[in-house]
Amino acid sequence: MASHAKSGLKAFTVPVSNPTAAQKPPAAPGNILYPRKRFLSQNIEINGVTRINAWVDSMRASSPTHLKSTPSLAEDQSSWMLHHPSALQMFEQIIDASKGKQIVMFLDYDGTLSPIVDDPDRAFMSDKMRVTVGNLAECFPTAIVSGRCRDKVYKFVRLAELYYAGSHGMDIKGPEKGSKHKKASESVLCQPASEFLPMIDEVYKQLVEKTKSTPGAMVENNKFCLSVHYRCVEEKKWSELAQQVKSVVKEYPKLRLTQGRKVLEIRPTIKWDKGKALEFLLESLGFANCTDVFPVYIGDDRTDEDAFKILRDRGQGFGILVSKFPKDTNASYSLQEPDEVMDFLQRLVDWKKLSQGNPEC
Ligand SMILES: [Mg+2]
Repeated sequence: MASHAKSGLKAFTVPVSNPTAAQKPPAAPGNILYPRKRFLSQNIEINGVTRINAWVDSMRASSPTHLKSTPSLAEDQSSWMLHHPSALQMFEQIIDASKGKQIVMFLDYDGTLSPIVDDPDRAFMSDKMRVTVGNLAECFPTAIVSGRCRDKVYKFVRLAELYYAGSHGMDIKGPEKGSKHKKASESVLCQPASEFLPMIDEVYKQLVEKTKSTPGAMVENNKFCLSVHYRCVEEKKWSELAQQVKSVVKEYPKLRLTQGRKVLEIRPTIKWDKGKALEFLLESLGFANCTDVFPVYIGDDRTDEDAFKILRDRGQGFGILVSKFPKDTNASYSLQEPDEVMDFLQRLVDWKKLSQGNPEC
């Protein structure tokens, strides 16, 4: 595998290459587009321009809680699946598209490797998933890209061979003992938002104080960004919570508010996101100017859309959205839940071992 690794860390500029057929799901017939109206990531206006109701509507849209069995929604679902087919069902086509290229894996954590649970501190991945991700990292360069603090996501995953990008990619670190997928020995470290640390701490304390009157609200300090989780807040209280968060964040023009799945995210206004983290990692692995790389990014969240879009724009590899519900997305394929993600990763491992005739990769 090390023979696939290229040079060490280079200047951070990534050219866009020509689109390839790999971007488009082979099963998608014709040119029909799923309406791009509801879900794609947008910054939330925090200076009073956007009505709080619109804000709460947006929270609902990014956090669907159930799939109603109305005919139109069922139609939506089947139309959406046509354009974002299951990555498991399309496995052979995906492998064909990757022929002759180095697969590089990027995995979100919450909702992708672990189920979404009521207490974010207890979002553990199963032992079986850990073994699968460990095997995957033996076969392909693998990175975890999460909104969580890097240390926290490492404590959940506990695999030393992986790259970790925490705080939405604002805190990136390579494997402690180097990686067999990378020739250069220098450790990768990228923290583009260091100057914001004192401000983030200050806002964290204010948000904890401000939201403590809303039952179920939980503020998480992710070091370079903050999360206000509302997965345990009654829906009728979402508006109140939105007001509370808005009243704090509006005092900090250098911070922006975005939405994830049952979470409001507060982060620096710097132009950095999971997509930039993906580009940085590809570059640090030595694949900046390569056409023979095939990045696969799997995630369930709005914030993962930045990475899906980068892959679509580069025309390399593709994104897989983890969702049971139709969502507007730049991903090409879908998987329904973490169990399906595990099956897909295991199939990649099995295919790699078989193709190399080497059980150890
Ligand atoms: Mg997620």
